[in-house]
Amino acid sequence: MDVIDEVIEANRQFAKNYSGQDLPSQPARRLAVVACMDYRIPISQALGLENGDAVVIRNAGGIITEDTLRSLIVAHYRLGITDVMIINHTQCGMQTFEDQALVEWLEKETGLSAVIPAHFHTFTDLEENVRRQFRRLRSHSWIPADLRVRGFIFNVKTGLLTEVDPD
Ligand SMILES: [Zn+2]
Repeated sequence: MDVIDEVIEANRQFAKNYSGQDLPSQPARRLAVVACMDYRIPISQALGLENGDAVVIRNAGGIITEDTLRSLIVAHYRLGITDVMIINHTQCGMQTFEDQALVEWLEKETGLSAVIPAHFHTFTDLEENVRRQFRRLRSHSWIPADLRVRGFIFNVKTGLLTEVDPD
């Protein structure tokens, strides 16, 4: 039994007491969270969110990529999202290597070159990385000025969020 078989079995148990059938598709608290995929940010518990409160978009680094923008535009215009939190975190793995070094290693390892991904979005300065994501989101022409956007760093040692000044 591999790990996917294990979680399929867990799902069968979950479905016995499932209670989400009547949740609306629009999140009750009109919140979107963009966060790193690192499991050390337990989004729901860390932010006191119930299922149905918010949409959560995660990727390596908590980066505003083309696909994050796609999801946020849908979240705002189709799901009524009014507030966005961007959450990066201490000890992020994306600070531990450089884009070009990974590209070169992958080319050497596989013997193949690839057009995408064009960037891995690694970074060195954590606060500046949050500010960069803030600017990326704010600069998109379809993101309205009245969408509230705030950036944060989650400390994996304390569990606390610290807000990052966008300026
Ligand atoms: Zn991370």
